[in-house]
Amino acid sequence: MSHTAEVAAAIKRFALPDKLGFGAVNAPVMFSAEWREQQWGPGQLLPYGPIEILPGARALQYGELVFEGLKAYRIGQSQPNLFRPDANFRRMQQSAQRLSMPAVPEELFFAGLETVTRACAEFIPANSGQSLYLRPFVFGTESGYLLRNSTTFRFMVIANPVEAYASGTPTVAIERKDVRAAVGGVGAAKTSANYAASLRGSTAAVAGGHAVALWLDAAWHRYIQELSGMNFFAVIDGELHTPELDTAILPGVTRDSLIRLARHLGLTVHERQMDIDELLTQISTGQCSEIFACGTAAIIMPISALADSDNLYKPKQTNVVAARLREALLAIQERRAPDPFNWIRIIS
Ligand SMILES: *Cc1c(COP(=O)(O)O)cnc(C)c1O
Repeated sequence: MSHTAEVAAAIKRFALPDKLGFGAVNAPVMFSAEWREQQWGPGQLLPYGPIEILPGARALQYGELVFEGLKAYRIGQSQPNLFRPDANFRRMQQSAQRLSMPAVPEELFFAGLETVTRACAEFIPANSGQSLYLRPFVFGTESGYLLRNSTTFRFMVIANPVEAYASGTPTVAIERKDVRAAVGGVGAAKTSANYAASLRGSTAAVAGGHAVALWLDAAWHRYIQELSGMNFFAVIDGELHTPELDTAILPGVTRDSLIRLARHLGLTVHERQMDIDELLTQISTGQCSEIFACGTAAIIMPISALADSDNLYKPKQTNVVAARLREALLAIQERRAPDPFNWIRIIS
């Protein structure tokens, strides 16, 4: 069968199950393009399935991989829409640059997103909070142990119809020993190495009954960075505070959107170094009234308390400011509200 016929057959076979979860269901198609002899070939749509990769590929041996995550929405609309895909495009370029990998050109990046979104349009679940999660990624495919970049790469886009990522109001464990990212390292790049560094802390947090770990800076083990895959906010004296970006913190699109949206709604937002012990004191005195995390998957995850070894620090409220911001952002993403920032891109 030709690729086109295989793709058509895969789409025909696919049915959207009732239970979607987050990443449990794979869309029936994927996009793939290859870099050889210093240039990108044309991308093509393929049925979703296993890929062949050499065991010595640098992506496997040395973590030569960068990725992105964004959503296509189709709530009460026939044409799906993306949310700030240009921001994901720029960030993937910056991530690739940090790993000295070739950038994916804008046309190819959007061809990947749009081809997959169009092919899956009828499978984009249409209840508020649901979406098609898109995962573009680039990885080095050349086999070899020399410490340099690959000369061959592959760009792919896979996708998952997903539920609203409902996490409830979990607690989060402060990680005091391990470090996720250091200034000058790859923390600001969306790359697998950061997740490798966070796995032990994340696993320990979950074993302790918490959702995930909160990471502190590498030099002093004192300044808040972010969660393993989400940025961090606190409400202090009625104003929003979030750690200022440096080369160890991932610049979240949701973080940036919330900062702009909050200011638009009349809230004051501070981007600054946040000392963890100062924050714990402010939680104890009630000055810090609420904390939450944000990222594309959950939009906003309200946090009910921070755990510091055996001590639990519980702000007086959970999911008040967070719920308001979440609804304001989701309403724009789902085209239920005006888009004053021109964030929506419709896929026709
Ligand atoms: C992707 C990611 C985020 C969230 O970024 P969004 O663009 O808001 O989805 C935060 N932290 C890490 C480590 C990430 O990989």
